[in-house]
Amino acid sequence: MEKTYFDKLNNTINNSYLQKMEEYAKNNSVPIIQKEGLECLLLTAKLKNVKKVLEIGTAIGYSASCLAFVSNDIRVDTIERDKKMYDEAIKNISILGLDKRINVILADALDFDENNLKYDYDLIFIDAAKSQYIKFFEKYEKKLKQGGVIFSDNLLFHGLIEKRTGEESRNLSQMLKKIEAFNEWLAKNEAYDTTFLKLGDGIAISIKK
Ligand code: SAH
Ligand code: MG
Repeated sequence: MEKTYFDKLNNTINNSYLQKMEEYAKNNSVPIIQKEGLECLLLTAKLKNVKKVLEIGTAIGYSASCLAFVSNDIRVDTIERDKKMYDEAIKNISILGLDKRINVILADALDFDENNLKYDYDLIFIDAAKSQYIKFFEKYEKKLKQGGVIFSDNLLFHGLIEKRTGEESRNLSQMLKKIEAFNEWLAKNEAYDTTFLKLGDGIAISIKK
């Protein structure tokens, strides 16, 4: 990933193995969180003094590892359904020495029994199948602490949400509709105070009232 002037100043990701993971993601089309979204996610974790994180969608363990590096007190439970991704995440997290603090769960987050989770969480990061966000949100918000934060990624879906042509394929069009439906549902959800930000691929930060 090309570093911007601010990326260099921020210096958040100062770990050569994390950089290797970024390269792997790029070369293998793994959609890890974009820089700006990541900075905002980590800033949220710092400002809210987050200790317990739940992530839906681990991929190769990149965002989970970045979160764990924010503080030694942070524990992350993260759910991934793809065995190949899961194996890669386990490998990476072990190389980074974070395996005591990051627990990767191999499961479909929609099937997994959330009562098996040990904690109530300060931060839930929703970053799995984009068409299922309402379901993920409704299922896992039960495990969010009062005043906790739900952080959702990819709400502009490569910018496509804002520039619909009407000529998208049927599949893509369905996907965009689902994301829009989530965005509108979230904006109207009165149990949360939500801010949408055009950072990275579009994020929302929802604070439980
Ligand atoms: N959070 C990661 C990127 C996740 S990419 C990062 O920023 O580094 C999205 C991942 O979600 C993919 O690996 C995909 O396999 C996984 N996924 C999609 N739907 C899922 C589901 N229902 N349950 C669990 N994982 C899912
Ligand atoms: Mg994402």
